[in-house]
Amino acid sequence: MERIGVFPGSFDPITVGHEDIILRSLSLFDTLIIAIGSNSNKKYLFSPEERKSQIEAVFANQPKVRVMIYDGLTVNFCKSRGAQYILRGIRTSQDFEFERNIGLMNLDMVPEIESLFLISRPEFSALSSSVVRDIKKHGGDISRYIPKALI
Ligand code: ADP
Repeated sequence: MERIGVFPGSFDPITVGHEDIILRSLSLFDTLIIAIGSNSNKKYLFSPEERKSQIEAVFANQPKVRVMIYDGLTVNFCKSRGAQYILRGIRTSQDFEFERNIGLMNLDMVPEIESLFLISRPEFSALSSSVVRDIKKHGGDISRYIPKALI
């Protein structure tokens, strides 16, 4: 059976921390769908379509990676794509507590779908899209924090 993973997130914008988690996870899956959440209550810097083209550019040479926009429950999106795994990254104990709650609720709703967590490398553990947005907003240099394909 094809092993399909979903990496859901905002990716506003994708950072080298996300890129690292994605590349490290690829040996686990036949296909990894990077699923861009389009929560209409959130205000984003980049539109879902812009984020999709950015991520496609970053993984242009990775045939296992697909990029899709979704809304609604992540588990429903996984079911609609036949995915058995949800991938998330963990930077800190705060991330762990947050991810643990979501992971347990997802497991309760759909026991067939497993959540997998990869630990962030120490050099990326303070990096977040929101910090990158702030640096950009104030005219700072974000080039070290976003994938090379986007510089
Ligand atoms: P969300 O709004 O769903 O948290 P994000 O794009 O902020 O979306 O994060 C998506 C996933 O990537 C989350 O699991 C998050 O913990 C992980 N992540 C974000 N930044 C990093 C990083 N620097 N290193 C490792 N994982 C990260």
